[in-house]
Amino acid sequence: MSESSPPNIQALLDEQRTFPPSEQFTRTANVRDRAVYDEAAADPEAFWKAQAEQLEWIEPFHTVLEWNPPHAKWFVGGKLNAAVNCVDRHVRNGRRNKAAIVWEGEPGDRRTLTYFDLQREVNLAANVLKSLGVKRGDRVAMYMPLIPELAIAMLACARIGAIHSVVFGGFSAEALADRINDSQCTLLVTADGGYRRGSLLPLKQIADEALKHTPSIKNVLIVKRDSSDRFPVHVTEGRDHWYHRIVQDVQAWCEPESMDSEDMLYILYTSGTTGKPKGIVHTTGGYLTGTMATTRAVFDLKDDDVYWCTADIGWVTGHSYVVYGPLAAGATLLMYEGAPDWPERDRFWSLIERHGVTIFYTAPTAIRAFMRWGTELPQKHDLSSIRLLGSVGEPINPEAWMWYHEFIGGQRCPIVDTWWQTETGQIMITPLPGLTTTKPGSATHPFPGISVQIRNERGEPVTEGGGLLTISRPWPAMLRGIYGDPERYAATYWSKWKDNAYFAGDGARVDADGCIWLLGRVDDVLNVSGHRIGTMEVESALVDHPAVAEAAVVGRSHDIKGQSITAFVTLKDGQRPSTGLEHELRGHVVKKIGALARPEEIHFAADLPKTRSGKIMRRLLRDIAEGKAIGDTTTLADPNVVARLKSQYENQE
Ligand code: ATP
Ligand code: MG
Repeated sequence: MSESSPPNIQALLDEQRTFPPSEQFTRTANVRDRAVYDEAAADPEAFWKAQAEQLEWIEPFHTVLEWNPPHAKWFVGGKLNAAVNCVDRHVRNGRRNKAAIVWEGEPGDRRTLTYFDLQREVNLAANVLKSLGVKRGDRVAMYMPLIPELAIAMLACARIGAIHSVVFGGFSAEALADRINDSQCTLLVTADGGYRRGSLLPLKQIADEALKHTPSIKNVLIVKRDSSDRFPVHVTEGRDHWYHRIVQDVQAWCEPESMDSEDMLYILYTSGTTGKPKGIVHTTGGYLTGTMATTRAVFDLKDDDVYWCTADIGWVTGHSYVVYGPLAAGATLLMYEGAPDWPERDRFWSLIERHGVTIFYTAPTAIRAFMRWGTELPQKHDLSSIRLLGSVGEPINPEAWMWYHEFIGGQRCPIVDTWWQTETGQIMITPLPGLTTTKPGSATHPFPGISVQIRNERGEPVTEGGGLLTISRPWPAMLRGIYGDPERYAATYWSKWKDNAYFAGDGARVDADGCIWLLGRVDDVLNVSGHRIGTMEVESALVDHPAVAEAAVVGRSHDIKGQSITAFVTLKDGQRPSTGLEHELRGHVVKKIGALARPEEIHFAADLPKTRSGKIMRRLLRDIAEGKAIGDTTTLADPNVVARLKSQYENQE
């Protein structure tokens, strides 16, 4: 590349379909005045101040933002309590008997907690934590199934000023121990088990393995999930306590702590798609402001909605859009413990029908699985209660977007494709459903008050075309650091350019209408004959073919081109791999985006390697394609997938 033309990511795919919001939706939308964008852009601090003022503060803040790059403080001087804002405030203000959490277990058991019930439970749990010596500032690890007690335990920590660190229940003992040790947690909250595909995952047993290597843990709380007692739980005298017993000895009311706006609320480790997970730190006032404001505006949340975000609470989506955002906004939320294909592949549609879900927020990986399983399953159910759909976690391929729109949204529901990260804490790029004309595959525009810039390598803004996604001003829910590693914080996010822009690690393109299209991770970008191509566009061209369910493309070293494109493809149910299909797919990519993107190799796979949060891990596929030793696999959902692919690949070579 010459100095005069910095290597931008090439924008290839030409998606032209547009979907303006319906008049009917716009008429009642929470945000329906376009002026909000200009007003927030003119004075972002005033915009966020107005949002923060909708929270309940014990002491008001005196300064909206203090920005000493790369360190931001939001709502300085303010004191508040997150649990009070998510629970008590609603009990006092007319939502006392409103359902807060509607929960369904995988075996079909059900519970509903009103805001009053939730308040009672959170207070009891807070007193249990205190009775075990947990103090303000202590770290509490959680290794739990998706049951209400997880949200209750998080809010109980928030009530007493302890910091929670939730570790997804699908992680191994080793991963749990690493995360506990990294932040020196003193208490672990776990359960006997949780249901997944019909059997109980013995969480306490796995935790016992981890606990051999976690000297900081003084006490363990065990929530009893399984009433059948089929799984023996080993209770270490003096350290382990059954929650249902210990809770009988505590008082019903726990005075909430007055927390500083910048006090730490939680630590959460990233998904580990690109490497070793980072312990991301979030604080209180800004985080609650950012998650509450986005929940209301992006999901158009109303008091009679039944809101369902399918994420596990072990991921940031579960923190921000199952627990803190929706509860701060006073929502009724659905929580489902188990797998989407248990006992049948229509479990989600049956849940939506039976609970009257109105807002449904899930991930592209799930949508592509539903597509693979066929349209008959959603069509068997009445999904007419749904009025808004959301997507998060990966770029959504235009074909998956269209399928979601047609078969789940009945062609009437807006889709909000929301881009954000563990680090951003809140949704950053998204349509506003009453205002934005959406395009399949585009996350469209920054949320009001958020400054996004697409830049080239040299840091110059790209007004049309591909580049690096950056955020040029601090935002309320932004991470405040990586736990225990301030240097890594500055180096990872803030040092690509000299002007203190946050670099997210993702590539994106901006089109002539100013819409943003996420192109995948910059680490994964392909370099074919000097053209830098995002993985997303080639993958979307493959997924556009009717036989293809999912695709992942990676670059492989090539003598002449620099890199050639290798594609791994999974097919829809009933489709068979063949040389004919391989040719057809190559032709299809060339037709959709041009000869430049033609995959040199296509491999049919039964499955793609994914993180436990469902994201495709291209770096492992690259290792396979390049014949290298496979990199870090600790965050991989199923190590067998990679082993199988590797041997299949080597046999074909
Ligand atoms: P790690 O940082 O440990 O490698 P991770 O980046 O997968 O893991 P998360 O914070 O869970 O961890 O995921 C954020 C990333 O997910 C974003 O950087 C982006 O790559 C991807 N992502 C999330 N939502 C979207 C979206 N709507 N469109 C495109 N990509 C998205
Ligand atoms: Mg990341």
